[in-house]
Amino acid sequence: MKTIFAVFGDPVEHSLSPVMHNAAYKALGMDCKYHKFRVTMDDLEAAIMGARAMGFGGLNLTIPLKEKALDIVEPDTMALVIGAVNTIEFPGDAIEFSDDTIAGITGIVGHNTDGIGAVKALAASGVDILDSRVLILGAGGAARAVAYQLAKDGARVTIANRTTGRAQELAENVRSVGDANGTGLEELPELTANADIIINTTSVGMHPDTDRTLVTADMMHTGQVIFDIVYSPLETRLLREAKKAGAVTIDGIRMLVLQGAESFRIWTGIEPPVGVMEQAVRDVLGSK
Ligand code: NAP
Repeated sequence: MKTIFAVFGDPVEHSLSPVMHNAAYKALGMDCKYHKFRVTMDDLEAAIMGARAMGFGGLNLTIPLKEKALDIVEPDTMALVIGAVNTIEFPGDAIEFSDDTIAGITGIVGHNTDGIGAVKALAASGVDILDSRVLILGAGGAARAVAYQLAKDGARVTIANRTTGRAQELAENVRSVGDANGTGLEELPELTANADIIINTTSVGMHPDTDRTLVTADMMHTGQVIFDIVYSPLETRLLREAKKAGAVTIDGIRMLVLQGAESFRIWTGIEPPVGVMEQAVRDVLGSK
């Protein structure tokens, strides 16, 4: 019987998760299908329980359900510190690729794969984060995941945010796992000059305000790594500025695909075909 996976969100129409996961199942010849469902906050618990009852292989959650899920599932350590769940695992529901009986449900576990997606995106571009000075722009949901994972993996993190208090509060929390400081955007030229890696986790530059950037070429230098997690447009103004400055660039698709690949690994225990998943997403975004 076909195994069903899904992303729940509200709105969810924009989600690229079905594209990348269905491409992976096809490439590996797996009898699985990934769908998107609009689920409201009020219906989240019923929807998760329903998915488990129907033997779904696993779920992703997107806006605005990630935080609410903490009250419904058992979050793992990373989801708990980040304060958001983007991947739900139904352990005990051994993925059904034959007609064997499914048995032994032990609970529902919530993971957050955004941070690991970001770290793997850097690694895939040959960037070593250990002891490197990382400037994270933004202190929202994505920044939380990125900052925790990078600090935990040994980077020296500075979080700079428009609302300084949010950056300071996040840095204080992140210090429980590693090295982190929080500040505002006033000192951006100096912070930029002193960073080995700059990661934009703000929505600045995202469609439709595609001409905006917090950092310009004159503030960067050759050899720096500029990673923009925004993936709409594919090439943001920030990445264009980085190319002008001779910096190494990494776009948001890598992180998007690698966080999805991590979900795939959690659910199936199978190594995901990352290249196939990435190409499927690039084809869809490139054609828009
Ligand atoms: P969020 O929680 O709403 O956080 C938004 C952040 O952007 C906040 O730090 C906010 O600062 C800052 N910001 C917004 N407008 C700004 C402006 N005009 N000037 C300076 N700072 C500004 O959003 P999120 O969920 O973290 O998502 C942020 C972006 O990351 C989105 O574009 C999203 O699509 C992308 N994303 C990509 C991936 C991926 O896999 N590639 C994953 C997750 C998210 P304040 O605190 O001052 O408001």
